[in-house]
Amino acid sequence: MTTELGLPTLRGGPSRDPARPDDPRLVDGFGRVATDLRISLTDRCNLRCTYCMPAEGLDWMPRDEQLTDDELNRLIAVAVRELGIDELRFTGGEPLLRKGLEGVLSTAAALRPRPDMSLTTNGIGLARRAEALAAAGVNRLNVSLDTLRPERFAEITRRDRLSDVLDGLAAARDAGLSPVKINTVLLRGVNDDEAADLLDFALAHGYELRFIEQMPLDAQHGWRRSEMITADEILARLEERFVLTASDEDRGGAPAEKFVVERRLAGTSIGAAGGPATVGVIGSVTRPFCGACDRTRLTADGQVRTCLFATGETDLRALVRGGATDTEIADVWRDAMWGKKAGHGIDDPGFLQPARPMSAIGG
Ligand code: SAM
Ligand code: SF4
Repeated sequence: MTTELGLPTLRGGPSRDPARPDDPRLVDGFGRVATDLRISLTDRCNLRCTYCMPAEGLDWMPRDEQLTDDELNRLIAVAVRELGIDELRFTGGEPLLRKGLEGVLSTAAALRPRPDMSLTTNGIGLARRAEALAAAGVNRLNVSLDTLRPERFAEITRRDRLSDVLDGLAAARDAGLSPVKINTVLLRGVNDDEAADLLDFALAHGYELRFIEQMPLDAQHGWRRSEMITADEILARLEERFVLTASDEDRGGAPAEKFVVERRLAGTSIGAAGGPATVGVIGSVTRPFCGACDRTRLTADGQVRTCLFATGETDLRALVRGGATDTEIADVWRDAMWGKKAGHGIDDPGFLQPARPMSAIGG
């Protein structure tokens, strides 16, 4: 069932590695256990972020290849009931474009044990959806926002929609989806001078900001390591205005390194009520956190991926459509995860960018 992309799917069912322990969870050969499932709901998007996809968009997945709501609900149920997944993160493409989204969310929220649920969105249309998302069971939202300047927003996303995103953020906070997190990618010479402004904005509005290092996952293969703004650079830019202290909170499998923020002049911690303010930096490239990874991924067409950077996938859609039982599906999923590599290997000389871009994997 596992296939290297570009090669035909292997037939004949899973060949269980005798070394894989008899453990119902998603364990891998390096002692990690995946409890966090990232689900891509669609590969389509209404923005065209330059670091993600080309201006003309991509060849979207044909509808019949995408999992139906029933198929998706079933795989999520297998993950939660059989495999010990306790966190569901819905993403895309743009997840708000998926028809039937609230239905999928409320079905997942009805599972027991009840998984923690978050959604990552570009924020377009969020203002009128935030309450429905909260009612459907979403606990937290991540909204992507790379700039506060309308003309830059249009340059980065190729759409003039900054005000929609700002309205969406406010609506999410008002709907009680707390904390609302902001994801920011800094691009050299484009928005890298805005790090401190974005943090000021997030602090003023009670949002939790996280910077993400740009990764080699764009469809156009335009990523250059030398061009990327590193975690060190992000921190240096923030430290021009803030004092940052590494948080002593246990990070667990979380990708973000957290820092407590104090304003340089005032010298006091500036968190809203409820604790000190923090900022996160996700140094996927220069500060990899693969050793603590607790993630498994499901694409909109039903492929399990062990990692964003995996070059192989395991086809669960074929199992679902071929009449496999939940037990069989769960065992194939376990086998896939048992083969998870130790790390993403971006620094290996032989590193190959995966064939699927970020928007089709689910970031
Ligand atoms: N469309 C939604 C959004 O933008 O939030 C969800 C999907 S998007 C792929 C998820 C996250 O991945 C966004 O925060 C986006 O900024 C980030 N992202 C996309 N391409 C990236 C890249 N090449 N490197 C790092 N982050 C990237
Ligand atoms: Fe769309 Fe998100 Fe990619 Fe931007 S980062 S093009 S919003 S999928």
